[in-house]
Amino acid sequence: MLQPIQSVVIVGGGTAGWLTAGVIAARHQARIKAGRFAVTLIESPNVAIIGVGEGTWPTLRTTLEKMGISETSFFRECDAAFKQGAKFARWTTGADDDAYYHPLMLPQGFTQLNLVPHWLSHDHERSFSEYVCPQAQICEAGLAPKMITTPEYRALANYAYHLDASKFAPYLQKHCTEKLGVHHVLADVSSVNRVELGQYAGDIKSVTTKQAGEISGDLFVDCTGFSALLLGKTLGVGFKECKDVLFCDAALAVQVPYETPDAPMASHTISVAQSAGWIWDIGLPTRRGVGYVFSSRHSSDDAARETLLRYIGPQHANLPMRRIPIRPGHRETFWKNNCVAVGLAAGFLEPLEASAIVLIELSAKLIAEQMPAHRGLMDLTAARFNDVTGYRWGRIIDFLKLHYVLTRRTDSAFWIDNVDPVTVPDRLKSLLELWKYRSPWLFDEFDRLEEVFPAASYQYVLYGMGFRTEVETLENAGTESLATKLANENLAITRQLRAQLPKNRELIRKIYDYGLQPI
Ligand SMILES: Cc1cc2nc3c(=O)[nH]c(=O)nc-3n(C[C@H](O)[C@H](O)[C@H](O)COP(=O)(O)OP(=O)(O)OC[C@H]3O[C@@H](n4cnc5c(N)ncnc54)[C@H](O)[C@@H]3O)c2cc1C
Repeated sequence: MLQPIQSVVIVGGGTAGWLTAGVIAARHQARIKAGRFAVTLIESPNVAIIGVGEGTWPTLRTTLEKMGISETSFFRECDAAFKQGAKFARWTTGADDDAYYHPLMLPQGFTQLNLVPHWLSHDHERSFSEYVCPQAQICEAGLAPKMITTPEYRALANYAYHLDASKFAPYLQKHCTEKLGVHHVLADVSSVNRVELGQYAGDIKSVTTKQAGEISGDLFVDCTGFSALLLGKTLGVGFKECKDVLFCDAALAVQVPYETPDAPMASHTISVAQSAGWIWDIGLPTRRGVGYVFSSRHSSDDAARETLLRYIGPQHANLPMRRIPIRPGHRETFWKNNCVAVGLAAGFLEPLEASAIVLIELSAKLIAEQMPAHRGLMDLTAARFNDVTGYRWGRIIDFLKLHYVLTRRTDSAFWIDNVDPVTVPDRLKSLLELWKYRSPWLFDEFDRLEEVFPAASYQYVLYGMGFRTEVETLENAGTESLATKLANENLAITRQLRAQLPKNRELIRKIYDYGLQPI
């Protein structure tokens, strides 16, 4: 007899649990309404969510929109702000004027022409990102990516969000339970019960909770955070550490008040390299979220505290700092039997490019889209999921390491150790060899449908950090006029957006007062 998949049980109510619940419930709404499909989320009333994770990727706009969330209410309830990419300071030389942008807009005419060889051969005074896209200038001017007349989720300049993680999960919970029919059970899972006999022996049959008894399901999603209670502890799936590539294994986080309520608020993440890691600085409407991600092999906790304090200023000496250990890496496999892990239960890498929440979204979408009709199909779905997800983790590790491997800093062991070739993944090594003579573009080395970081992201980091690709002078023959046209278009768009866009805080205030036009 075929066992239909009609009941999904998610354990864990952090960002991963609620995003997964929302994405699956929205995709299967008609079946939920007809009583033929159910999504249940079990969340411990005693284990707090991690409560950090404030930077996102533009995918979140589509994810929220598809869940039927109003962008206006999201801004109002989650202390959300616009994020238009990241500014990396002191990563290349460590000097005061060392900075580059990884914006979220694609280079002008990206699918028509690769502008890198043109920028390189003209040896422009402008940085690469300024040559190809307006966003660095928009961010430097403190401008928002849209106007109050731009409808919800639509953009004039591509954007993601900064948000308050402690408000986001409860906000999603309300929406998922009230609008999408997700069952919410507040209870501690005390044991996980397996099928003992038959073809699917080893599957998870049910979970026993302290407060709500036994809850059974067809598919279980492990969103229990670092504890990985289902996939790790129960099904015994191992963890693949990558501390030999990405050294950072701890974070100190602090919430910093603004000097005044109307102080300027950056519309990009600021990432400032330090002697044993880097500091993130994220502007929310009511406060900044700041944290030092560092390698405990290269810095003591005391030294890290001092570094963070120096950054936020002595007037903030009494603010509570929270230490969060990081174990860089991911599960050996992500979907085993009838259990799939999403979020921290699947793994975690330092938040240098805000890659965790986007991976949650992509995983949830894959589960929702490829929801197997019956148990007999589940192993096929799991194999596909593992292939895609394993590829994504590998690519993210490569991309994060790229930020370190291009440094010319030699002022501390952390930076010297980071360029040691034994710490660089083989795939990244060969790509860097290739890119000495040809710049990455379009699908050359990025051939999956939904790459987490497309070729444009690699271009921004490579050329932002001064990587040189040898350009054969004749390579640009025939495309010079198109390149000039695109560069001029970018100049015109930059001028227009700079004149048109409001200040970041000003737009958020207007969203509070008037709301964005719903779509
Ligand atoms: C320092 C730091 C900075 C970060 N910055 C970013 C960033 O900028 N951008 C980004 O994308 N990501 C970032 N992340 C990652 C991001 O915070 C997480 O990916 C995200 O919050 C998802 O967490 P989670 O839901 O998997 O786990 P958690 O928030 O830990 O939730 C776990 C859930 O499981 C429940 N649970 C646990 N055990 C049981 C049990 N026995 N029974 C029932 N329920 C149980 C808990 O109650 C909780 O609800 C950062 C992470 C860290 C550590």
